[in-house]
Amino acid sequence: MIMSSNNRAMLCANWKMNGSLSFMGDYFAEFGLSTELSVSFFAPFVYLPKLQQTLAESTYSWGAQNISAHESGAHTGEVSAAMLAEFGCSQALVGHSERRNLYLESSEMVADKFFACWNSGITPVLCVGETLSERDSGVTLDIMSEQCLAVFDDSRFMINKDKKFVVAYEPVWAIGTGKVPAVGEIQDIHSYIRNLIEKYDKNIAKETPILYGGSLNINNAAAIFAAPDVDGGLVGGASLAASDFKGLVKICKKYC
Ligand code: PEP
Repeated sequence: MIMSSNNRAMLCANWKMNGSLSFMGDYFAEFGLSTELSVSFFAPFVYLPKLQQTLAESTYSWGAQNISAHESGAHTGEVSAAMLAEFGCSQALVGHSERRNLYLESSEMVADKFFACWNSGITPVLCVGETLSERDSGVTLDIMSEQCLAVFDDSRFMINKDKKFVVAYEPVWAIGTGKVPAVGEIQDIHSYIRNLIEKYDKNIAKETPILYGGSLNINNAAAIFAAPDVDGGLVGGASLAASDFKGLVKICKKYC
């Protein structure tokens, strides 16, 4: 991972179930193969070999959008962390809200996926976020605690203190909707998450990138990235156009 002046700064592209072989060729012809920021691409499983081939000489990391909690065996349709590592994946998303909500992944299942990443040398990007009804009921911070502590309170967390991870705060109601929380709210929630980590270890809290995700674009990113506890972004829609994502890299480099 390349580090910018804030050594936590990073930007992640979540392509979700989008893309094709020709899309990737065109994308990197325009995006280029190096930046001075830590940049990662999360693609559908089948495109990871192509990403590995395309990005082998680049400054970027790549990874999967989901991962099995299991090592091997009777888990039809699943892909293990060790398999992903064979294709050069150094990061994986765990607990994206689309996995939690559409595929009913509980926080305990997400924790198992988080530690499966660590077992294979993959850095997990732990996605957390509240739904609109949770926000409206005033329980956003309780949801942050529940989703984060399922990992941090697990006995496998503290015995692996040297391992790296990333947290992505993604309010579910902001994903793909064009709506974003006020910058002050984002800062308060990021700071709350950093404090949760600090209870376990001050240095880990200082080093762990906490990213914002949810309708980030080149018009709203500067204000969000300028918040002190926002270290970059996890970007869905705006990462699908190389020109927009390039713009976000520039903004992230300047403000994070
Ligand atoms: C996401 O799905 O992780 C995401 C942040 O999507 P979008 O940027 O499209 O809201």
